[in-house]
Amino acid sequence: MPLNYPKYAVLLGAAAVLTAFSGCGERAPAQTSAERDVFAMDTFMTMKAYGSGAETALEEAQQRIKQLEDELSVTSEDSDIFRINNAGGEAVEVSADAVTLIGSGVSYWNETSGALEISVYPVLAEWGFTTGNYKIPEPERLKALLANVDSGKIEVNGSSVRIPEESKIDLGALAKGYTGDEIMDICRENGVTSAIISLGGNVQTLGKKPDGSEWRVAVKDPFAPDTNMCVLSVSDRAVVTSGNYERYFTGDDGRDYWHIIDPKDGYPADNGLVSVTVIGESGLRCDALSTALFVAGTDAAESYLREHTDVDAVLVTDDDRLLYTVGIADKLDNISGKSAEVIARD
Ligand code: AMP
Ligand code: MG
Repeated sequence: MPLNYPKYAVLLGAAAVLTAFSGCGERAPAQTSAERDVFAMDTFMTMKAYGSGAETALEEAQQRIKQLEDELSVTSEDSDIFRINNAGGEAVEVSADAVTLIGSGVSYWNETSGALEISVYPVLAEWGFTTGNYKIPEPERLKALLANVDSGKIEVNGSSVRIPEESKIDLGALAKGYTGDEIMDICRENGVTSAIISLGGNVQTLGKKPDGSEWRVAVKDPFAPDTNMCVLSVSDRAVVTSGNYERYFTGDDGRDYWHIIDPKDGYPADNGLVSVTVIGESGLRCDALSTALFVAGTDAAESYLREHTDVDAVLVTDDDRLLYTVGIADKLDNISGKSAEVIARD
């Protein structure tokens, strides 16, 4: 399954989502609007908001993104996460945002039987995903690193966090979802009732489009990420995708290795899914679940989705089938040639 698409195609695709579907280029209603592009968290972010508070909202949103990046970055030496990772096993006082996200990480680790594992970072680093110096690790090395991968050993007490000396955490799987929720809140506080933001694979929408119709959010085809596979009509929803095409390298053995790791064996998760899109009210929940369900694989994802009806999802299997939950059946426009099957709920 070669996936040799250049990285820039993915970035351009992300920008195209908003251009094509947020109303740009259409006959705009006579209403104030504001737009802002930000590069943060290793991601091109695009925000568009409508209404008299739009400009202020996006200014505040930009500052909040910067604050969250400063707190949550795994590499910047002043960040909460860097301080936790380099505390030599001691407890560290951190921001309320870090406490919330680490607490959520541990909850989702529980809820997804360990599929979401924020302490998988040393394994990710061994593969070179943190630096771009990619390599296929020795199996023995992975085994040794996995001995210290265990969210059950993360302690959160009030505003302090402690992890074992040998462990390291990273919030890459859920930080953008939380950031999206914070931006939506800032928009609401400023009286904005209509907005859409795209933070890489995370799209979040507030209300409907100014013309009263639903936002149309495109989801990429993981087998051809410069092409859209389906379009979802949504309002007040986060649409978050985890895909194997987002960051990967081709090894000397000719195989592709991607950035979402199965904590069970330390290898890129290869359990039947190549793309998972989760649709729901909370960006944080959708982000955590998109990663976790990708790791969990087809069968476990389907059974999770049958039981948890507060979220919907679109899955793409490694044999190129599209599966979607019944809750979004009338919101999904399949523009690919893929066969589509409904995940039913009783
Ligand atoms: P996402 O794009 O939201 O699916 O997040 C993927 C990112 O989460 C990766 O780039 C890693 O930084 C991190 N990650 C990889 N595997 C896992 C995992 N099993 N649990 C938690 N985070 C992970
Ligand atoms: Mg995620």
